[in-house]
Amino acid sequence: MNQKNKFIDLHVHTNFSDGTFTPQETVAYALKRKMAAIAITDHDCVDAIPHCINTAQGENIEIVPGIELAAEIGDREIHVLGLFIEWNAPWFLEKLKQIREARFVRMQKMIQKLSDVGIDISEKEVLALSGSSGSIGRLHLARALINKGQIRSFREVFDKYIGNGKPCYVKRLSISPEEVIDMIKKLKGVPILAHPAVTNSDKMIPELVQAGLMGLEVHHSDQNNTATKRYAKIAREYGLVVSGGSDCHGMGKGYPLLGTLNIPYEVLENIKKARDAEYNIADSV
Ligand code: AMP
Ligand code: FE
Ligand code: FE
Ligand code: ZN
Repeated sequence: MNQKNKFIDLHVHTNFSDGTFTPQETVAYALKRKMAAIAITDHDCVDAIPHCINTAQGENIEIVPGIELAAEIGDREIHVLGLFIEWNAPWFLEKLKQIREARFVRMQKMIQKLSDVGIDISEKEVLALSGSSGSIGRLHLARALINKGQIRSFREVFDKYIGNGKPCYVKRLSISPEEVIDMIKKLKGVPILAHPAVTNSDKMIPELVQAGLMGLEVHHSDQNNTATKRYAKIAREYGLVVSGGSDCHGMGKGYPLLGTLNIPYEVLENIKKARDAEYNIADSV
């Protein structure tokens, strides 16, 4: 295929975190859309990666192993994608397990807070919607509440109850941006600031660069043209590599976003070059 007609999506969730597609369904959908590469970037979980790689065997698609980690600076939260991580390092798997256990305890607290304001949902009903590895989050809780007819829309769930700072919201385990970036770099991955417009994190970019950030998610489903241009410029100014992904959650956000942004393959080639330069990897594409 001509390079110009090859498209990629470097931000995709499966049902191992809060997407609704299994790894097999995710890869099948990406193949249907004729994607040249996708990155699997579940929240706090890498367990979908081997399934996606297996499903993609013999097919014309690259699977980039990745992760999406959250970090806190004061009362603000940012998300960092780690692309090309050596995902199965034992210390990292152990760390992710701890983060996911904290997510579980947090979910119990949110369920209690909802109960305190008269909204009834059980742990079992929420867990029924999460994948086997248990990276359980607010989208599972929101879906469970809507399925049960307790609340009508995602918007209402987040605006009234579990959005950041709302009465039934509980914070996740707190990790600093430095720690998140360090972990990704220890795994020889490329740390990329996810959806900067969504987390309103422009002011933090200089200190994140200082901490070792290598890329910026310039293209994202929730970033309009103006934002895309602004982040392309910021990326140039700070020497950050450009990334882009849809943040597909299967049917979790209404319809599959995977492949909707037409991100050219060249974006991935530049990320590979940045990785190779950072870690002195020779002879790779
Ligand atoms: P968690 O990782 O459990 O904090 O959940 C984060 C997920 O909730 C992300 O995938 C977001 O897409 C979703 N989310 C966060 N805030 C909102 C909001 N205000 N409206 C809709 N979805 C949201
Ligand atoms: Fe998510
Ligand atoms: Fe995110
Ligand atoms: Zn995401």
